[in-house]
Amino acid sequence: MKCDPNQFRAAPPSLAVRPRLIRQLFLPPLIIALMIGLGYIGFWVSEYYGIRTLSDNGERQLELHARTVESELSKYTYLPSLLELESSVSTLLADPNQETRKTVNDYLEGLNRRSRSRAIYVMDTTGRVLATSNWRDADSYQGEDLSFRAYFQNAVRGQPGRFYGIGSTNGEPGYYLAHGLEEHGKIIGVAVVKVRLEALEERWQRARLEAFVSDENGIIILSSDPARRLKAVRPLSDDTKERLAHSLQYYWATLNELEPLARERLNEGTEKLTFPANSEVVNDEHAVSYLAQTRPLNDTPWNFTLLTPLNDLRRAAINQGILVAVAFGLVAFLLIAWNERRKVIATRLAAREALQEANSQLERRIAERTADLRASNERLKGQIRERRQAEETLRRAQDELVQAGKLAAIGQMSTSIAHELNQPLAALRTLSGNTVRFLERGALDTASANLKTINELIDRMGRITASLRSFARRGDDQGEASLGKAVDAAFQVLSARLDGLPLTVHRDFANAQLQIDQTRLEQILLNLIGNALDAMQAQPAPELWLDGHMFEGKYRLHVRDNGHGIAPETRKHLFEPFFTTKPGEQGLGLGLTLSASLAAATGGNLAVEHPASGGTAFVLCLPLAGTQKAEST
Ligand code: ADP
Repeated sequence: MKCDPNQFRAAPPSLAVRPRLIRQLFLPPLIIALMIGLGYIGFWVSEYYGIRTLSDNGERQLELHARTVESELSKYTYLPSLLELESSVSTLLADPNQETRKTVNDYLEGLNRRSRSRAIYVMDTTGRVLATSNWRDADSYQGEDLSFRAYFQNAVRGQPGRFYGIGSTNGEPGYYLAHGLEEHGKIIGVAVVKVRLEALEERWQRARLEAFVSDENGIIILSSDPARRLKAVRPLSDDTKERLAHSLQYYWATLNELEPLARERLNEGTEKLTFPANSEVVNDEHAVSYLAQTRPLNDTPWNFTLLTPLNDLRRAAINQGILVAVAFGLVAFLLIAWNERRKVIATRLAAREALQEANSQLERRIAERTADLRASNERLKGQIRERRQAEETLRRAQDELVQAGKLAAIGQMSTSIAHELNQPLAALRTLSGNTVRFLERGALDTASANLKTINELIDRMGRITASLRSFARRGDDQGEASLGKAVDAAFQVLSARLDGLPLTVHRDFANAQLQIDQTRLEQILLNLIGNALDAMQAQPAPELWLDGHMFEGKYRLHVRDNGHGIAPETRKHLFEPFFTTKPGEQGLGLGLTLSASLAAATGGNLAVEHPASGGTAFVLCLPLAGTQKAEST
């Protein structure tokens, strides 16, 4: 199984790095933007529901306090009409004299004290004050013409006169309730009660309630905060301003508009108003927001407005917004941390799995390779055993072949040797008989010459027998041979066959020292030259060339003849054992086989060439003496 290197390869760096970089660049601003967005939403939702809750509570408060105001106002409604029942008042209106005025003044003074109103006074139909509860005061209304007052004008027409205004005499604000006094169905005068409503304001202030009452002109007439008093809750037109200024309802008050920093209408009768915390500093930092809930007051054209501060709510909403943002930030941080950790774990797991996979693949491959190697090792061992056996068999066969070849050569040579020895023996017999006779005659010189010839013949015979012995001997090829000596020895052995043969021998070789046993070299040369002589039997001018030269660190000897050559069909069988073309007892077919094996045993070889000029050339290639030693060292 092959391991795919691409299988565990990481993504290309450009692709792997870019999304990570984008994430790192854009994630923090995105999280911050989301924190701000969610924080704002948290703030908004908290404020929205907070305002709704406040609004619900405020509705109840509004109802409660509006009813208190209504009851406070209605408390005095009946009072002016009471004066209708008082006869002295009717008398005064019918005949205003000093005595009656005094009586009515006393009456009104007592009534005012008991009812805790600010002042009670009676006017004739022209608007002149005939009697008043404050007749003793320096700024008494006595004799004043108040016909310009709206409450008088309404009352004298028989309508209820309700009016908030600032007194033209003393500049004191008050609530005026006027009633047209009737007699026999005709209005004879007007009774007025002036009430101070500061008690309401004080009560609001003590209860830390922020509220105000605006009249039909939109002017704040009662306010828990004095700064808002006599301010217009809505813009006044120039005509209205002029009309109000003429009426002196608010005395000489400027009637500025109540200007909130911000005004947001939430629903009918509910607004969100933002005022400066302190009326002198007008900036956002010190602003106070209110939930303004307004409800009309029954039996009056006035409105009651309850202001609920929103600053606590706003702070709570801001805190909740911050809490939402921080919670989101925390969740985002935890999610990112969790995601990073998940990725790290996933990467580690993937790496571990890849490592395990690679490891198991490696182990499988190692096991497969080991099995292969073991099998091939076993095969090799088997082959080595077979080769060794074959080598052993071959070596034995070679040895036997060599031995057989030697025996065959001995057998073959014994005839010529016997013939060779018989000739010198016959010569020796003749020479020794002649020498005896020459010695008896005293011909010492001739006898001495004969003895010398006898010695030479004996030496030759010794050499022949020595060659025979060397052929028969079996031995390891560890010697050195002289090429020249070996050639001479071969010719020596073959000298019997050379006698009378017109053979021309061309010698062109160096007396090289070759790494082969001398006898074996002589045996090879004997075979090659003997075969050449056989091939040249029919040749009238036989020629033998012995050429030698160095080639690739070895010595090559060409043994060429001009014999009949070798037929193409027999060439491939030359080195086969027992292949011979010689008739009868002449050939054994072992010469070339033996010679080739002897040459191979020393690291050389024997080859054949077929020259175009005819004849045959055997090429004997043998290592030079000392080469193997040098190689082995
Ligand atoms: P034998 O000489 O006993 O036949 P060899 O092995 O020496 O065995 O030679 C085998 C054969 O090779 C010979 O029978 C001969 O036909 C051929 N041969 C060897 N040398 C020569 C040569 N120089 N010229 C022609 N034929 C040769």
